[in-house]
Amino acid sequence: MTAELIARLRADSEDQELGTVRRWQALHPGAPLVGYLPGHVPRELIYAAGGLAVGLWGAWPGLEIIQGDACFQSYICHLPRSLVEMAQRGLFADFAGLIVPSSCDVLRNLSGIWKLEGPRPWCFYLDLPQNFDTEIGGVFLRAELLRLATRLLGHAPEEPDLERVRAAIVLTNRQQDRLRCLRRWRRDEPQRVPIDDYLWLIRGALFLHPTEHIALLETYLETIAQGAGPPWRDSARVLLEGAFCEQPPAGLLKTIEQAGCAIVEEDLLLGLNWLEAPLREDGDPLDSLVEGYLRRTRTVPFKYQDARARRGTGATGSRGAGRRRDPCRPLVLRSGPARAPQPERGAAAGRDSLYTIPNYSEQSYQPLAVRELVGTFSDAIRLWSQEE
Ligand code: SF4
Repeated sequence: MTAELIARLRADSEDQELGTVRRWQALHPGAPLVGYLPGHVPRELIYAAGGLAVGLWGAWPGLEIIQGDACFQSYICHLPRSLVEMAQRGLFADFAGLIVPSSCDVLRNLSGIWKLEGPRPWCFYLDLPQNFDTEIGGVFLRAELLRLATRLLGHAPEEPDLERVRAAIVLTNRQQDRLRCLRRWRRDEPQRVPIDDYLWLIRGALFLHPTEHIALLETYLETIAQGAGPPWRDSARVLLEGAFCEQPPAGLLKTIEQAGCAIVEEDLLLGLNWLEAPLREDGDPLDSLVEGYLRRTRTVPFKYQDARARRGTGATGSRGAGRRRDPCRPLVLRSGPARAPQPERGAAAGRDSLYTIPNYSEQSYQPLAVRELVGTFSDAIRLWSQEE
């Protein structure tokens, strides 16, 4: 049963025509499709406007990038090129708009190119504050959310609209709760949730409405809770960092797992999947969204603040870091997880930090090289980690 569910999610996720999104639109005539880019966009405002939020975190495998390459320098990441390519092919013609958060300069430039390249759905640049004081960054973000809500609704939000935002918060809280449950399974018994199952399940949040996504997650979680699952393999438990924006190919994650590393914590799709605690469901819903951004997220490269040590993963203190082949400013500026080992974070898990870096872009990686690199890494952990 889970195999069918995962196969369906994978097929939908790789569908070059965004068939799931189009089916939803056919069932909800007049409802807006609104795309958003990595990392954080308050999807609740889109759902409250009756729309479908569609996460655009890169292209499907095999998309040939031709026109997208013409818009960006060769040394930047792959993600904006594939989005331009998809736009040039008319994939977003039925979209009402696109929200671009201020995650990095590359995305900011993409929002400009979006406007320059002929008639397109509207593009909203969401300026997320880098000041986390409620009275400064909080006030600024609330004004941004009001501006966005006004764009989505076509008028300033009124009480019934705010009531719908509240309902959307309840819905996404439920979705986040199920995603956290899935992450707990991965952390505690990774053999019960293979990494590719995990990937397709979380990617479902990009193109399914939360009501449908929650139902699929619950079916999967109930099924694995009932089964005994395969026996534990002698894998090293590792953290995967640096995969928060441009997503690694599914094959890369599977290769890491097959080479003997169980990824028990990761930062895939961060921004969509970053809350550590539910959003407040009472009071002013815009204040709740603001407070969620300021106070309830995991440590993320999009927020330039001190990194907090990871705890409670049970990782062996060893880390694998995915890294795009191109420099990514949030990754570099944050705490350099893909540039240098951070012994203090290994120490937080109680061990020395071991470290390896498989490079990738959203379309490519070198399976054999990664397998050898990660296999050696995994052996090193098991042979020489400081077991007491
Ligand atoms: S991979 Fe890095 S540089 Fe590229 S769009 Fe994402 S955050 Fe920006």
